[in-house]
Amino acid sequence: MRRSLVAGNWKMNGSRSQAQNLVGQILDQSSLLKAVDIVICPPSVLISQVIRQLEGTEIGVGGQNLGLHAEGPYTGEISGPMLQDQGCRFVIVGHSERRHLFGESDSVVAKKTAFAYSCGLRPIVCVGETLQERENGETFKVVERQLRAVLEATGINIFPEGIVAYEPVWAIGTGQTAAPHQAQEVHVFIRRLLEKQQVDVGTETRILYGGSVNNDNAGDLFTEEDIDGGLIGGASLKATDFLSICRAVTQSC
Ligand code: PEP
Repeated sequence: MRRSLVAGNWKMNGSRSQAQNLVGQILDQSSLLKAVDIVICPPSVLISQVIRQLEGTEIGVGGQNLGLHAEGPYTGEISGPMLQDQGCRFVIVGHSERRHLFGESDSVVAKKTAFAYSCGLRPIVCVGETLQERENGETFKVVERQLRAVLEATGINIFPEGIVAYEPVWAIGTGQTAAPHQAQEVHVFIRRLLEKQQVDVGTETRILYGGSVNNDNAGDLFTEEDIDGGLIGGASLKATDFLSICRAVTQSC
């Protein structure tokens, strides 16, 4: 039985006081944690503050990215050991904004995933096709290529601790969500790829959906059998929205 997980990706948003309020409101509803795992991924400068505020709770904290090296002359980078040292347990890897705006290739994403896992972080590996790729009928091909690159670098052993997030690029931040059946067919495809490597691992791995999830569409998405939760961008910045998405997951369990 896979436990649902909802992760909030704040991206490059939030001040210290906004973070304090948002986390405070999430903590007020922490009874939700009986039925769902919650992970918050703040910008790196807010990580230590959020970790302090969440101390002693089950809510996890994750980075949004990590560098390829442990330390050294890499101005602007933050390493896996640094995230781990701060108290992060998760890290998002291969988010489409990293792939498309910062030029991260499949091979870089694969190396980062392997490095994250070796640092004791649970990678949330993002995969997903662009609109053009979907329209060309290449969705499965692209998702398979992205996931295979990771599996070649890491082996299947990073799962089921590792998490996959299917995030169609055309749905991220656009208000255009994948229909539940569209998401479900890709989730099943991803699960089969993992099961081909090792059946029980594929069955146990959590596969999140991300892309314009909100309180109106969350319920329908999460009732799909292979959608085990969500990676939430915009809606994770408002406590009421994020919490109602978490509630929708618990109701679909
Ligand atoms: C994301 O950034 O991972 C994401 C899914 O964003 P949004 O929910 O805003 O589409």
